[in-house]
Amino acid sequence: MRTTVGIIGAGPAGLLLARLLRNAGIDSVVLESRDRAYVERRQRAGILEQGTVDVLRAAGAGERMDREGLRHDGIELRFDRRRHRVDFPALAGGRAVMVYAQTEVCKDLIALQLEEGGPLLFGAEALAVEGAGTERPRVPFTHEGREDVLECDYVVGCDGFRGVARQAVPAEVSRVFERTYPFGWLGVLADVAPSHDELVYARHERGFALLSMRSPAVSRLYLQVPEGTDAEAWADDEIWAELERRFETDDAWRLERGPITQKSVTPMRGYVHEPMRHGRLFLAGDAAHIVPPTGAKGLNLAVGDVVTFARALTHLKETGSGERLDAYSATCLRRVWQAERFSYDMTTLLHRPPAATPFEERVQLARLERITSSRAAEADLAEGYTGSPWSDPNGRSAAGRSPAGRRRMTDRAPNGHRTTTGRAPCYGFVPVLAGHGTHAYRGSTGERSFLSSRVNPLPTYYS
Ligand SMILES: Cc1cc2nc3c(=O)[nH]c(=O)nc-3n(C[C@H](O)[C@H](O)[C@H](O)COP(=O)(O)OP(=O)(O)OC[C@H]3O[C@@H](n4cnc5c(N)ncnc54)[C@H](O)[C@@H]3O)c2cc1C
Repeated sequence: MRTTVGIIGAGPAGLLLARLLRNAGIDSVVLESRDRAYVERRQRAGILEQGTVDVLRAAGAGERMDREGLRHDGIELRFDRRRHRVDFPALAGGRAVMVYAQTEVCKDLIALQLEEGGPLLFGAEALAVEGAGTERPRVPFTHEGREDVLECDYVVGCDGFRGVARQAVPAEVSRVFERTYPFGWLGVLADVAPSHDELVYARHERGFALLSMRSPAVSRLYLQVPEGTDAEAWADDEIWAELERRFETDDAWRLERGPITQKSVTPMRGYVHEPMRHGRLFLAGDAAHIVPPTGAKGLNLAVGDVVTFARALTHLKETGSGERLDAYSATCLRRVWQAERFSYDMTTLLHRPPAATPFEERVQLARLERITSSRAAEADLAEGYTGSPWSDPNGRSAAGRSPAGRRRMTDRAPNGHRTTTGRAPCYGFVPVLAGHGTHAYRGSTGERSFLSSRVNPLPTYYS
């Protein structure tokens, strides 16, 4: 089997990359070791940054997200039985985030790929990446009991933290930076309407808790638990009682209980592999880096990586210049380290380390006091959470160079949730197409849409 870009892994990184390349007229084959049902059900991320929302829309994969996703304009911080709301648009130049589950992003991208894209093989396990340093890298794989080889011009390892692609980078050029945290998250999915309409991040002397949601009828809740905890060791009633303790406030706020349908424990880790490129092998998403989930950055980083790759390859195709591909690793790593920093800050701000001293506890509370009393400190959190605009290989902010970079999700998504402006619903920020292609708005119904027959997948926001 032969293709231009061999993609290993059909998580959000691999699926979106296939879509972006297809839109740019570049062929690809996606190999995914698991079956479709497994990929579509794996509960993980749920917060999409502004830039991710923009990219999905521009790639033609945002229709259901705009209908069913929940635009969130803030989060609540809870500590010392007090509540403090962080208002994103007011603090972060109009930016917001979207609650739309990773499972749904994957479902949308899988459906599009199977309908319009190149081959997407489920149950196809990549065994290795061979010849990454040559012009013809190869991926031997098994599919339906048979062995085969995918011959490529480029291979992109989107195969997650435990994939095979990273192993093809020789040890003498690899550098690994890692931090593991001595606690994990017990995450539950519950069939009950969220008890608050925005995410609640609670710091408590018994440990961290997070109230999140997947839809208006499904809550996603997390508890900090000791490293190595078995999820099944926690009875449902114990989970609810512990959540109630950690979310407790001095006002009348109440946590609604409901049937728990899923339970799992996630370890907390920060990890970066440098470089993210070796020859014609490129690493993207969790294959190259992991962030603790407190900052909600993992999926968004994966999107940033594949946008950078697709844009660089399109540039090569159109101009003959490999300059952007050469800059791939450095370009991605700048954003990755900012996300690592933000995730580290959020994790240490809100979790209780097992050996925390009274001094450290006081400093932690002082950090929270600072955020709730200083606009500058609060704005820093809001900017980090909603995601900063991508920069180009020279480190300039896209926001400084194009009107698209300055435009934000100023209108609420047309899903009915928290739509209080009274205006006709519209698709927030529609990115200006990069370099070529045309677009226009259809204004009569208040809905905006691309009229161009060609949807360019790469907004300048992500240049
Ligand atoms: C509990 C939890 C909560 C999270 N919350 C958030 C959040 O709110 N916001 C956020 O942005 N991020 C969050 N994340 C992180 C986010 O889920 C990941 O960063 C994201 O899944 C990365 O996507 P990916 O495509 O790089 O990797 P993955 O989603 O891991 O996909 C990799 C794919 O490769 C396949 N694969 C592996 N090996 C092979 C092989 N040899 N051959 C073929 N296929 C292979 C796997 O089966 C998998 O489908 C969270 C993660 C967890 C665990």
